[in-house]
Amino acid sequence: MLSLGVLEYKQLDKPTPKAGEVLVKIKSIGVCGTDIHAYGGNQPFFEYPRVLGHELSGVVEEVGSGVAIEKGKAVYVIPYISCGNCVACRNDKGNCCTNIEVLGVHRDGGMCEYISIPEKYVVQTDGLSFNDLAVVECFSIGAHAVRRADIKADDTVLVMGSGPIGIGAIQFSKMSGAKVLVSDVAKEKLDFCRDNYAVDGLVDALGDVTQQLSELTNGDFPTVIIDCTGNVKAMESAVTNLAHGGKIVYVSVVKANITFSDPEFHKRETTLLGSRNATREDFENVVNGLKNGTLKSEGFITHSSKFSSMVESFKNWTQPGSGVIKAVIEMDNA
Ligand SMILES: [Zn+2]
Ligand SMILES: [Zn+2]
Repeated sequence: MLSLGVLEYKQLDKPTPKAGEVLVKIKSIGVCGTDIHAYGGNQPFFEYPRVLGHELSGVVEEVGSGVAIEKGKAVYVIPYISCGNCVACRNDKGNCCTNIEVLGVHRDGGMCEYISIPEKYVVQTDGLSFNDLAVVECFSIGAHAVRRADIKADDTVLVMGSGPIGIGAIQFSKMSGAKVLVSDVAKEKLDFCRDNYAVDGLVDALGDVTQQLSELTNGDFPTVIIDCTGNVKAMESAVTNLAHGGKIVYVSVVKANITFSDPEFHKRETTLLGSRNATREDFENVVNGLKNGTLKSEGFITHSSKFSSMVESFKNWTQPGSGVIKAVIEMDNA
């Protein structure tokens, strides 16, 4: 249970699945930027206290009436609880439902032993480890952003920020056949991307980004910029570092206003897209990618902790210089 800056254990009753619900015994939990931001008070959609955890895998422990999924099956969770009635839901965009409740953000999540949720958010999947299943959500966010931008093989994509979401965006951009550049302030993260994901160019975000991009693209600039930094300056710079006719996708959320020059925006005929969460299709694309090896999870999970020691581990992971790319919490009995 998280209060601002304080994560502590709390004993709660084991939930009983209602009709249509699945009781999931959690096996592995991915720790995400959202969790870290919530811990520090920088998450805009957050109230305390809260059980964190939206990147979840486990096994079906029990089911309520009318549920088809069987006990004992390995599952991952789609953590975006949507209302089914609003304008977004009616248009098949439950990922940006007006009443969305994200597990571990708007309602209690799965950083706990058991969670009971409606069957449509629980997806049975064989052939992947629980840790892989726990990072499906994280990769899905990048997959969704790439799908929003409709990236083609002749695009040059700049992914700003090489955290877990950025790495998902890099991998899906590469799958589209595009040339992929990545920018970050941390040199070791850039090196990690070069060594693991065959990116085509590295951009030092502390240097002259415009000049580096010009050199890497023969003066054309990236035709797609995907922001995974949630940094105001980086987000604003996208407008002037974009190719004419290009697209910007803002994935990361920042608790601030962002501004840019309208002539710069207009002269490029910029397409500006927001990308929120992911849809079931993105989750399925990620699972397929992990199964057929086009998507790499190897090396991505840099840190792990048992549930029994997670409070201390979590504190360490939030420290600058911790070197965490992706951390997972494994249940002690997993
Ligand atoms: Zn996440
Ligand atoms: Zn809705």
